[in-house]
Amino acid sequence: MTLDWITPADRLKSLPPYVFARLDELKVRAREQGLDLIDLGMGNPDGATPRPVVEAAIAALQDPANHGYPPFEGTAGFRQTITAWYQRRYGVKLDPDSEALPLLGSKEGLTHLALAYVNPGDVVLVPSPAYPAHFRGPAIAGADIYSMILKPENDWVIDLKAIPDEVAERAKLLYFNYPSNPTAATAPREFFEEIVAFARRFNILLVHDLCYAELAFDGYQPTSLLEIPGAMEIGVEFHTMSKTYNMAGWRVGFVVGNRHIVQGLRTLKTNLDYGIFRVLQTAAETALNLPDEYLHEVQTRYRTRRDFLIQGFAELGWSIPKTKATMYLWVPCPPGITSTDFALSVLQQTGVVVTPGNAFGSGGEGYVRVSLIADCDRLGEALNRFKQAGITFQAGAALASNLKP
Ligand SMILES: *Cc1c(COP(=O)(O)O)cnc(C)c1O
Repeated sequence: MTLDWITPADRLKSLPPYVFARLDELKVRAREQGLDLIDLGMGNPDGATPRPVVEAAIAALQDPANHGYPPFEGTAGFRQTITAWYQRRYGVKLDPDSEALPLLGSKEGLTHLALAYVNPGDVVLVPSPAYPAHFRGPAIAGADIYSMILKPENDWVIDLKAIPDEVAERAKLLYFNYPSNPTAATAPREFFEEIVAFARRFNILLVHDLCYAELAFDGYQPTSLLEIPGAMEIGVEFHTMSKTYNMAGWRVGFVVGNRHIVQGLRTLKTNLDYGIFRVLQTAAETALNLPDEYLHEVQTRYRTRRDFLIQGFAELGWSIPKTKATMYLWVPCPPGITSTDFALSVLQQTGVVVTPGNAFGSGGEGYVRVSLIADCDRLGEALNRFKQAGITFQAGAALASNLKP
Protein backbone atom coordinates (compact mmCIF):
# COMPACT_ATOMS: atom_id res chain seq x y z
CA MET A 1 0.00 0.00 0.00
CA THR A 2 1.35 3.39 -0.87
CA LEU A 3 0.65 6.52 1.07
CA ASP A 4 1.01 8.90 -1.84
CA TRP A 5 -2.40 10.39 -1.03
CA ILE A 6 -0.93 11.84 2.15
CA THR A 7 0.79 15.00 1.08
CA PRO A 8 3.08 16.93 3.39
CA ALA A 9 1.86 20.16 4.98
CA ASP A 10 2.59 23.36 3.10
CA ARG A 11 5.10 24.36 5.76
CA LEU A 12 7.15 21.29 4.90
CA LYS A 13 6.93 22.08 1.20
CA SER A 14 8.09 25.62 1.94
CA LEU A 15 11.51 24.33 2.95
CA PRO A 16 14.15 25.02 0.32
CA PRO A 17 15.85 22.05 -1.36
CA TYR A 18 18.70 20.73 0.67
CA VAL A 19 22.02 21.30 -1.09
CA PHE A 20 23.75 18.95 1.32
CA ALA A 21 21.75 15.97 0.04
CA ARG A 22 23.68 15.56 -3.22
CA LEU A 23 26.96 16.07 -1.40
CA ASP A 24 25.99 13.39 1.10
CA GLU A 25 25.16 10.97 -1.68
CA LEU A 26 28.59 11.53 -3.26
CA LYS A 27 30.25 11.19 0.13
CA VAL A 28 28.64 7.77 0.62
CA ARG A 29 29.71 6.71 -2.87
CA ALA A 30 33.27 7.95 -2.34
CA ARG A 31 33.52 6.03 0.93
CA GLU A 32 32.25 2.86 -0.79
CA GLN A 33 35.04 3.24 -3.34
CA GLY A 34 37.50 3.26 -0.46
CA LEU A 35 38.39 6.94 -0.86
CA ASP A 36 39.91 8.46 2.28
CA LEU A 37 37.60 11.46 2.83
CA ILE A 38 38.81 14.61 4.53
CA ASP A 39 35.55 16.13 5.71
CA LEU A 40 35.85 19.89 6.13
CA GLY A 41 32.19 20.35 5.27
CA MET A 42 30.46 20.33 8.62
CA GLY A 43 30.56 22.78 11.50
CA ASN A 44 31.22 19.91 13.89
CA PRO A 45 34.22 20.54 16.19
CA ASP A 46 36.67 17.61 16.15
CA GLY A 47 38.03 17.95 19.72
CA ALA A 48 36.91 16.21 22.92
CA THR A 49 34.65 17.82 25.50
CA PRO A 50 36.88 19.17 28.33
CA ARG A 51 37.62 16.56 31.01
CA PRO A 52 36.10 18.53 33.95
CA VAL A 53 32.83 18.84 32.01
CA VAL A 54 32.68 15.11 31.33
CA GLU A 55 33.49 14.40 34.99
CA ALA A 56 30.79 16.77 36.24
CA ALA A 57 28.30 14.98 33.98
CA ILE A 58 29.37 11.54 35.25
CA ALA A 59 29.00 12.66 38.88
CA ALA A 60 25.58 14.22 38.18
CA LEU A 61 24.46 11.07 36.40
CA GLN A 62 25.10 9.02 39.58
CA ASP A 63 22.49 11.06 41.47
CA PRO A 64 18.93 9.76 41.04
CA ALA A 65 17.60 13.22 41.92
CA ASN A 66 18.74 14.24 38.42
CA HIS A 67 16.84 11.52 36.60
CA GLY A 68 13.33 12.97 36.53
CA TYR A 69 11.78 15.67 34.37
CA PRO A 70 13.83 18.85 34.60
CA PRO A 71 12.14 22.23 35.18
CA PHE A 72 10.75 23.70 31.91
CA GLU A 73 12.68 26.92 32.32
CA GLY A 74 15.99 25.19 33.11
CA THR A 75 17.59 24.73 36.53
CA ALA A 76 18.09 27.83 38.67
CA GLY A 77 21.78 26.88 38.90
CA PHE A 78 22.32 26.93 35.13
CA ARG A 79 20.36 30.17 34.68
CA GLN A 80 22.40 31.87 37.41
CA THR A 81 25.63 30.58 35.85
CA ILE A 82 24.55 32.06 32.51
CA THR A 83 23.80 35.49 33.97
CA ALA A 84 27.02 35.49 36.05
CA TRP A 85 28.94 34.63 32.86
CA TYR A 86 27.29 37.56 31.06
CA GLN A 87 28.25 39.90 33.86
CA ARG A 88 31.84 38.65 33.75
CA ARG A 89 32.26 38.64 29.96
CA TYR A 90 30.26 41.68 28.92
CA GLY A 91 29.45 43.63 32.08
CA VAL A 92 25.75 43.07 31.29
CA LYS A 93 23.41 42.48 34.23
CA LEU A 94 20.56 40.05 33.56
CA ASP A 95 17.79 38.61 35.71
CA PRO A 96 18.29 34.81 35.85
CA ASP A 97 14.57 34.24 36.41
CA SER A 98 13.19 36.08 33.41
CA GLU A 99 15.99 37.06 31.04
CA ALA A 100 17.79 33.73 30.49
CA LEU A 101 16.42 30.47 29.10
CA PRO A 102 18.36 27.23 28.50
CA LEU A 103 17.71 25.56 25.13
CA LEU A 104 18.11 22.12 23.57
CA GLY A 105 20.91 23.59 21.46
CA SER A 106 20.63 27.07 20.00
CA LYS A 107 19.27 25.82 16.65
CA GLU A 108 16.15 24.65 18.47
CA GLY A 109 15.59 28.09 20.02
CA LEU A 110 16.42 30.05 16.88
CA THR A 111 13.84 28.06 14.96
CA HIS A 112 11.15 28.03 17.63
CA LEU A 113 11.50 31.77 18.20
CA ALA A 114 10.12 32.23 14.69
CA LEU A 115 7.16 29.97 15.52
CA ALA A 116 6.52 32.00 18.66
CA TYR A 117 6.69 35.43 16.98
CA VAL A 118 5.97 35.13 13.25
CA ASN A 119 2.54 34.92 11.63
CA PRO A 120 2.25 33.71 8.03
CA GLY A 121 3.07 36.65 5.78
CA ASP A 122 5.06 38.61 8.37
CA VAL A 123 8.28 40.02 6.97
CA VAL A 124 11.50 38.65 8.46
CA LEU A 125 14.88 40.10 7.48
CA VAL A 126 17.61 37.51 7.08
CA PRO A 127 21.13 37.89 5.68
CA SER A 128 22.12 35.84 2.67
CA PRO A 129 24.34 33.89 3.15
CA ALA A 130 23.25 32.87 6.67
CA TYR A 131 23.23 29.90 9.01
CA PRO A 132 20.28 27.83 7.72
CA ALA A 133 18.26 27.95 11.00
CA HIS A 134 18.01 31.73 10.53
CA PHE A 135 15.88 31.29 7.41
CA ARG A 136 14.44 27.80 7.85
CA GLY A 137 12.74 28.76 11.14
CA PRO A 138 10.96 31.75 9.59
CA ALA A 139 10.17 29.65 6.48
CA ILE A 140 8.46 27.01 8.62
CA ALA A 141 6.50 29.80 10.32
CA GLY A 142 5.31 31.01 6.90
CA ALA A 143 7.29 34.25 6.92
CA ASP A 144 7.80 36.45 3.92
CA ILE A 145 11.61 36.38 4.00
CA TYR A 146 13.50 39.44 2.79
CA SER A 147 17.12 38.48 2.02
CA MET A 148 19.71 41.07 2.93
CA ILE A 149 22.40 40.14 0.41
CA LEU A 150 25.87 40.40 1.95
CA LYS A 151 28.72 41.61 -0.20
CA PRO A 152 32.49 41.20 -0.09
CA GLU A 153 32.94 44.93 -0.69
CA ASN A 154 31.07 45.50 2.58
CA ASP A 155 33.22 42.91 4.36
CA TRP A 156 30.05 40.75 4.54
CA VAL A 157 28.47 43.17 7.01
CA ILE A 158 24.73 43.89 6.53
CA ASP A 159 24.09 47.12 4.61
CA LEU A 160 21.12 48.54 6.52
CA LYS A 161 20.81 51.44 4.09
CA ALA A 162 20.06 49.02 1.27
CA ILE A 163 16.81 47.92 2.98
CA PRO A 164 13.92 49.96 1.56
CA ASP A 165 11.93 51.83 4.23
CA GLU A 166 8.68 50.14 3.18
CA VAL A 167 10.28 46.73 3.81
CA ALA A 168 11.73 47.84 7.15
CA GLU A 169 8.33 49.21 8.18
CA ARG A 170 6.69 45.83 7.57
CA ALA A 171 9.52 43.78 9.15
CA LYS A 172 8.93 42.06 12.46
CA LEU A 173 12.21 40.20 13.12
CA LEU A 174 15.79 40.48 11.95
CA TYR A 175 18.27 37.62 12.37
CA PHE A 176 22.00 38.29 12.34
CA ASN A 177 25.23 36.62 13.39
CA TYR A 178 28.71 38.12 13.98
CA PRO A 179 31.25 36.55 14.08
CA SER A 180 29.53 34.90 11.17
CA ASN A 181 28.94 31.41 9.95
CA PRO A 182 29.56 30.92 7.00
CA THR A 183 31.55 34.04 6.05
CA ALA A 184 33.77 34.23 9.18
CA ALA A 185 33.19 38.00 9.06
CA THR A 186 33.07 40.15 12.18
CA ALA A 187 31.17 43.41 12.60
CA PRO A 188 32.49 46.50 14.39
CA ARG A 189 30.77 47.81 17.50
CA GLU A 190 29.48 50.80 15.49
CA PHE A 191 27.50 48.38 13.35
CA PHE A 192 25.83 47.00 16.48
CA GLU A 193 24.92 50.55 17.49
CA GLU A 194 23.49 51.22 14.02
CA ILE A 195 21.41 48.06 13.97
CA VAL A 196 19.97 48.81 17.43
CA ALA A 197 18.97 52.29 16.24
CA PHE A 198 17.48 50.77 13.07
CA ALA A 199 15.47 48.19 15.03
CA ARG A 200 14.18 50.81 17.48
CA ARG A 201 13.19 53.10 14.65
CA PHE A 202 11.20 50.41 12.83
CA ASN A 203 10.08 48.33 15.86
CA ILE A 204 11.90 45.19 14.79
CA LEU A 205 12.89 42.38 17.12
CA LEU A 206 16.65 41.80 16.80
CA VAL A 207 17.77 38.18 17.02
CA HIS A 208 21.54 37.94 17.37
CA ASP A 209 23.32 34.59 17.20
CA LEU A 210 26.60 34.86 19.13
CA CYS A 211 27.62 31.22 18.95
CA TYR A 212 31.24 32.15 18.18
CA ALA A 213 31.51 34.36 21.26
CA GLU A 214 34.79 32.79 22.33
CA LEU A 215 36.33 31.47 19.11
CA ALA A 216 38.16 34.70 18.36
CA PHE A 217 41.85 35.30 17.71
CA ASP A 218 44.69 37.79 17.99
CA GLY A 219 43.05 39.66 20.87
CA TYR A 220 39.74 40.28 19.08
CA GLN A 221 36.73 40.26 21.45
CA PRO A 222 33.33 39.76 19.74
CA THR A 223 30.61 42.24 20.69
CA SER A 224 27.47 41.18 22.52
CA LEU A 225 24.27 42.83 21.26
CA LEU A 226 23.23 43.31 24.88
CA GLU A 227 26.25 45.55 25.59
CA ILE A 228 24.66 48.18 23.36
CA PRO A 229 22.44 50.69 25.22
CA GLY A 230 18.77 50.12 24.40
CA ALA A 231 19.32 46.62 22.98
CA MET A 232 17.53 44.87 25.87
CA GLU A 233 14.30 46.58 24.81
CA ILE A 234 14.29 45.09 21.32
CA GLY A 235 16.72 42.18 21.29
CA VAL A 236 17.64 38.65 22.27
CA GLU A 237 20.96 36.85 21.91
CA PHE A 238 21.61 33.13 21.39
CA HIS A 239 24.59 31.10 22.59
CA THR A 240 25.68 27.51 22.29
CA MET A 241 27.94 25.15 24.21
CA SER A 242 28.56 23.24 20.96
CA LYS A 243 31.50 25.12 19.51
CA THR A 244 33.71 26.56 22.27
CA TYR A 245 33.41 23.47 24.46
CA ASN A 246 33.25 20.73 21.80
CA MET A 247 29.78 19.78 23.06
CA ALA A 248 27.85 19.65 19.77
CA GLY A 249 26.33 16.25 20.60
CA TRP A 250 25.18 17.30 24.08
CA ARG A 251 22.55 19.72 22.72
CA VAL A 252 22.80 22.63 25.12
CA GLY A 253 22.48 26.32 24.34
CA PHE A 254 20.68 29.32 25.78
CA VAL A 255 19.01 32.61 24.95
CA VAL A 256 19.18 35.85 26.91
CA GLY A 257 17.70 39.30 26.47
CA ASN A 258 14.32 40.98 26.46
CA ARG A 259 12.18 39.28 29.08
CA HIS A 260 8.93 39.34 27.11
CA ILE A 261 10.54 37.62 24.16
CA VAL A 262 12.41 35.11 26.30
CA GLN A 263 9.18 34.29 28.15
CA GLY A 264 7.22 34.04 24.88
CA LEU A 265 9.68 31.44 23.64
CA ARG A 266 9.41 29.65 26.98
CA THR A 267 5.62 29.50 26.68
CA LEU A 268 5.87 27.88 23.25
CA LYS A 269 8.51 25.44 24.47
CA THR A 270 6.47 24.30 27.49
CA ASN A 271 4.13 22.88 24.86
CA LEU A 272 6.85 21.21 22.83
CA ASP A 273 9.55 19.78 25.09
CA TYR A 274 10.48 19.09 28.70
CA GLY A 275 13.73 20.98 28.80
CA ILE A 276 17.29 19.71 29.14
CA PHE A 277 18.37 16.64 31.13
CA ARG A 278 19.62 18.04 34.46
CA VAL A 279 22.92 16.19 34.06
CA LEU A 280 23.67 18.20 30.93
CA GLN A 281 22.79 21.48 32.64
CA THR A 282 25.27 20.69 35.42
CA ALA A 283 27.89 19.91 32.78
CA ALA A 284 27.16 23.18 30.96
CA GLU A 285 27.59 25.12 34.23
CA THR A 286 31.01 23.53 34.65
CA ALA A 287 31.92 24.52 31.08
CA LEU A 288 30.96 28.18 31.55
CA ASN A 289 33.07 28.27 34.71
CA LEU A 290 36.22 26.75 33.16
CA PRO A 291 39.35 28.85 33.62
CA ASP A 292 40.39 31.10 30.73
CA GLU A 293 43.36 28.82 29.98
CA TYR A 294 40.90 26.40 28.42
CA LEU A 295 39.64 29.13 26.08
CA HIS A 296 43.20 30.05 25.11
CA GLU A 297 43.87 26.42 24.24
CA VAL A 298 40.84 26.21 21.91
CA GLN A 299 41.60 29.57 20.36
CA THR A 300 45.20 28.52 19.71
CA ARG A 301 44.05 25.31 18.05
CA TYR A 302 41.82 27.11 15.54
CA ARG A 303 44.24 30.00 15.01
CA THR A 304 47.06 27.58 14.15
CA ARG A 305 44.86 25.78 11.64
CA ARG A 306 43.68 29.09 10.19
CA ASP A 307 47.25 30.28 9.62
CA PHE A 308 48.32 26.95 8.16
CA LEU A 309 45.45 26.75 5.68
CA ILE A 310 45.58 30.41 4.64
CA GLN A 311 49.30 29.98 3.91
CA GLY A 312 48.66 26.77 1.95
CA PHE A 313 45.83 28.34 -0.07
CA ALA A 314 48.05 31.34 -0.83
CA GLU A 315 50.54 28.95 -2.46
CA LEU A 316 47.70 27.67 -4.66
CA GLY A 317 46.77 31.19 -5.72
CA TRP A 318 43.97 31.91 -3.27
CA SER A 319 44.27 35.08 -1.31
CA ILE A 320 42.07 34.78 1.76
CA PRO A 321 41.99 37.57 4.32
CA LYS A 322 42.97 36.57 7.84
CA THR A 323 39.83 35.81 9.85
CA LYS A 324 39.42 37.25 13.33
CA ALA A 325 37.03 34.58 14.58
CA THR A 326 35.04 31.36 13.94
CA MET A 327 36.19 27.94 12.75
CA TYR A 328 35.72 28.63 9.02
CA LEU A 329 37.41 30.02 5.95
CA TRP A 330 35.16 31.52 3.27
CA VAL A 331 36.88 30.77 0.02
CA PRO A 332 36.01 32.16 -3.45
CA CYS A 333 35.53 29.54 -6.17
CA PRO A 334 37.72 29.79 -9.25
CA PRO A 335 36.09 32.07 -11.82
CA GLY A 336 33.48 30.47 -14.07
CA ILE A 337 32.26 27.65 -11.84
CA THR A 338 29.30 27.52 -9.44
CA SER A 339 29.73 26.70 -5.75
CA THR A 340 27.91 23.41 -6.10
CA ASP A 341 29.92 22.26 -9.13
CA PHE A 342 33.15 23.32 -7.48
CA ALA A 343 32.37 21.51 -4.20
CA LEU A 344 31.26 18.37 -6.06
CA SER A 345 34.35 18.27 -8.28
CA VAL A 346 36.71 18.93 -5.39
CA LEU A 347 35.10 15.99 -3.63
CA GLN A 348 35.35 13.72 -6.65
CA GLN A 349 38.93 14.63 -7.49
CA THR A 350 40.43 14.89 -4.03
CA GLY A 351 38.09 13.37 -1.46
CA VAL A 352 38.05 16.71 0.36
CA VAL A 353 34.59 17.81 1.47
CA VAL A 354 33.80 21.54 1.50
CA THR A 355 30.37 23.17 1.67
CA PRO A 356 29.01 25.07 -1.35
CA GLY A 357 28.23 28.65 -0.36
CA ASN A 358 24.72 28.56 -1.83
CA ALA A 359 23.74 26.07 0.91
CA PHE A 360 23.57 29.24 3.03
CA GLY A 361 21.42 31.18 0.58
CA SER A 362 21.89 32.61 -2.89
CA GLY A 363 24.19 35.32 -1.48
CA GLY A 364 26.74 32.57 -0.85
CA GLU A 365 27.02 31.64 -4.54
CA GLY A 366 30.61 31.79 -5.79
CA TYR A 367 32.12 30.71 -2.47
CA VAL A 368 32.71 27.54 -0.51
CA ARG A 369 33.04 27.21 3.25
CA VAL A 370 35.98 25.27 4.62
CA SER A 371 35.77 24.20 8.28
CA LEU A 372 38.92 24.11 10.39
CA ILE A 373 37.91 20.80 11.92
CA ALA A 374 41.00 18.70 11.18
CA ASP A 375 44.55 18.97 12.50
CA CYS A 376 47.34 20.50 10.42
CA ASP A 377 48.54 17.07 9.21
CA ARG A 378 45.18 16.39 7.60
CA LEU A 379 44.86 19.94 6.31
CA GLY A 380 48.32 19.51 4.76
CA GLU A 381 47.15 16.29 3.10
CA ALA A 382 44.11 18.15 1.74
CA LEU A 383 46.38 20.87 0.30
CA ASN A 384 48.62 18.21 -1.31
CA ARG A 385 45.65 16.64 -3.01
CA PHE A 386 44.55 20.06 -4.29
CA LYS A 387 48.05 20.57 -5.70
CA GLN A 388 48.12 17.15 -7.36
CA ALA A 389 44.67 17.56 -8.87
CA GLY A 390 45.68 20.96 -10.24
CA ILE A 391 42.97 22.75 -8.29
CA THR A 392 44.19 26.31 -8.03
CA PHE A 393 42.42 29.60 -7.96
CA GLN A 394 43.92 31.01 -11.15
CA ALA A 395 43.06 28.08 -13.39
CA GLY A 396 39.87 29.95 -14.26
CA ALA A 397 37.59 28.88 -17.05
CA ALA A 398 39.80 26.02 -18.26
CA LEU A 399 39.69 24.51 -14.82
CA ALA A 400 35.98 25.06 -14.63
CA SER A 401 35.31 22.99 -17.73
CA ASN A 402 37.53 20.06 -16.80
CA LEU A 403 36.20 20.18 -13.25
CA LYS A 404 32.58 19.65 -14.29
CA PRO A 405 31.38 16.65 -12.31
C1 LIG B 1 27.01 25.88 15.05
C2 LIG B 1 26.08 27.01 15.09
C3 LIG B 1 25.05 27.05 16.02
C4 LIG B 1 24.98 25.99 17.07
O1 LIG B 1 23.85 25.27 17.07
P1 LIG B 1 23.53 24.30 18.29
O2 LIG B 1 22.14 23.92 17.97
O3 LIG B 1 23.63 25.09 19.56
O4 LIG B 1 24.50 23.17 18.26
C5 LIG B 1 24.18 28.13 16.01
N1 LIG B 1 24.35 29.14 15.15
C6 LIG B 1 25.36 29.15 14.27
C7 LIG B 1 25.53 30.32 13.37
C8 LIG B 1 26.25 28.08 14.20
O5 LIG B 1 27.24 28.10 13.33
